[in-house]
Amino acid sequence: MLPEFVEKINRGGFTGDLRFDEPMAAHTTFRVGGPADCWIRPDGASFPEYASRLLAETEAAGVPVFILGGGANLVVSDRGIRGIVLDTTAYRGRAGLGGESGGGTLVAFCAGTPVDEMAEEAANLGLSFEFFAGMPGAIGGAMWMNARCYEHSVSDYLAGAKLLSRGGAVKEYRFRSGDFGYKRSPFQKSGDLILEGSFRLPKKEAEAVRGQMERYRSDRESKGHYRCPSAGSAFKNNRAAGRPSGKIIDDLGLRGFGIGGAQIAPWHGNIIINRGNASAGEIKALCSEVRARVKKETGFELECEILFIGDFFS
Ligand SMILES: Cc1cc2nc3c(=O)[nH]c(=O)nc-3n(C[C@H](O)[C@H](O)[C@H](O)COP(=O)(O)OP(=O)(O)OC[C@H]3O[C@@H](n4cnc5c(N)ncnc54)[C@H](O)[C@@H]3O)c2cc1C
Repeated sequence: MLPEFVEKINRGGFTGDLRFDEPMAAHTTFRVGGPADCWIRPDGASFPEYASRLLAETEAAGVPVFILGGGANLVVSDRGIRGIVLDTTAYRGRAGLGGESGGGTLVAFCAGTPVDEMAEEAANLGLSFEFFAGMPGAIGGAMWMNARCYEHSVSDYLAGAKLLSRGGAVKEYRFRSGDFGYKRSPFQKSGDLILEGSFRLPKKEAEAVRGQMERYRSDRESKGHYRCPSAGSAFKNNRAAGRPSGKIIDDLGLRGFGIGGAQIAPWHGNIIINRGNASAGEIKALCSEVRARVKKETGFELECEILFIGDFFS
């Protein structure tokens, strides 16, 4: 059924990669996740037109579509994802360079641009986006998550976005600060596909920006961010409990605690790592266990930052 449906859509034109029963472990930084019924990564130039057609057809037919960025904040179920995974990562690069506005320069990027590449490109233009250097993932995912690094949120720089509705219609979004909060964005509610983000970036001397970028990348390196497969911080860190989530977990002696191949990093309380053979189920069980222990010992409810996607048994 699904292969025929996809073939019908693709008769209208398709270039890119497409696979059925594609293991999602290959597309997530955690390196876990069972098969997507169908994974499609359209070529960059064809992406907007193809994505619009795909969304219109799937919406009409009731076929679920999951939009994938860099897969850096996901735990995909061992049973995988039903329906279509639309991979945005080939749609990358600078989408436009605007004029000066409100003390910054307007610059737009395609959603699949790696965040680190955007920071690099900004530096080349003498613009500041250095705080995000070294963060895995793509800019569409960072906008969706309202990612936050070194006290700077993506929303501090966002000016607008070009979106596709789930019915495939192009929409323009203009930034409103009230739409965003800590790890909160309006895209989480709307379900729209982010095609491009437009950013207002302050001017800054390129060499100074590059120096800062190197410092942020090495800081991540020294904190063990890249040592094992993970999705970065497992729990939100809004410090509602008065101290960082990692510190609460450390104070309970949970560093190194594990279930199967999933483990709290022995060097960082708020990173869960895949020791090589973890299942998504084990990662989920470990999150639940940590949340339960923190709740019992401190009364505080940790909130997961990593997203559990796909077919999970509850
Ligand atoms: C080592 C490491 C360090 C990290 N450090 C940080 C950090 O310092 N700060 C931080 O905030 N995060 C951090 N993260 C988490 C992760 O990098 C961010 O959440 C990142 O923004 C996720 O982007 P992504 O493209 O990988 O999104 P994905 O993980 O692919 O997707 C996340 C969500 O966004 C949606 N989405 C993705 N692209 C689009 C699109 N184009 N349109 C609509 N929806 C879309 C997906 O459907 C999903 O719901 C870290 C992760 C790792 C592995």
